[in-house]
Amino acid sequence: KNAEDLIESEKPTVTFADVGGLEEIKKKIRMNFILPLKQPELFAAYGRQAGGSLLLYGPPGCGKTFLARAVAGEISATFLHLELQAILSMYVGGSEHNLHDIFEKARAEAPCVLFIDELDALGGSRQGMRQHHDRMLVNQLLIELDGLASFNENVFIIGATNTPWYLDSALRRPGRFNNLLFVPPPEAEERSTILDLKLAGKPAGGLNVNKLAEGTSLFSGADLEQLVRDATELALERAMETGEIQPLADTDFRRVLKSRQPSTLDW
Ligand code: ATP
Repeated sequence: KNAEDLIESEKPTVTFADVGGLEEIKKKIRMNFILPLKQPELFAAYGRQAGGSLLLYGPPGCGKTFLARAVAGEISATFLHLELQAILSMYVGGSEHNLHDIFEKARAEAPCVLFIDELDALGGSRQGMRQHHDRMLVNQLLIELDGLASFNENVFIIGATNTPWYLDSALRRPGRFNNLLFVPPPEAEERSTILDLKLAGKPAGGLNVNKLAEGTSLFSGADLEQLVRDATELALERAMETGEIQPLADTDFRRVLKSRQPSTLDW
């Protein structure tokens, strides 16, 4: 296996407008990642460079990957999605080599957002050979991150983890993933925005979206997306039976919600 098999490159069309809520985070990313690219002279005048790294953490399904993809969309950059677990399962030596190739690929495709998912997989308390293997890979990752930090290469590294406390502490030092952003479960108002985004283009005019948002506390963005998908299914079934468009109704959501738990509950 080589780097090409481990990672697909993509040109995302999603932007921040598709990400519901998370306004503070978007603002920080705009300031640190996006504006430097658009106004490089201004940033350079303050001794700042484009590029760099950021660590997103928080419960699953709350938009870390989506946000990273939207960053790429905002700056028309290539998006590379690396799942560390895939690289970790390789033979000793092979994974370092591949990690290096992936960073090379990111440089070649700049401007580029390299998204490294499951970063915590590297901090695990493993035994023997496994542990040694992980150590080597952490070291290689540090070499790559430090290498990027010293050049203005328009490669943005966004790391993500559900469990930041398992992260290898070497990865958190200055110049590496020292820029931490919490991506929390959405608040009621944010849930309302996310629901509106997911309902766009569907017949849902009569829905009480605010009420639905209030009744879905601790639901992640992914949960809300699934909720809309399932309610749509029910409305569609009715439409097929009657041969007429049947709008999504509050009762559809109530039915679906009966068998649903928020996934950020035990995070
Ligand atoms: P994991 O930790 O499991 O990788 P994640 O935080 O990376 O989760 P995403 O993959 O970004 O979660 O989210 C899953 C899906 O949920 C997204 O593809 C998106 O459609 C939807 N979603 C999540 N958060 C939001 C949001 N704030 N606005 C709109 N859609 C969202």
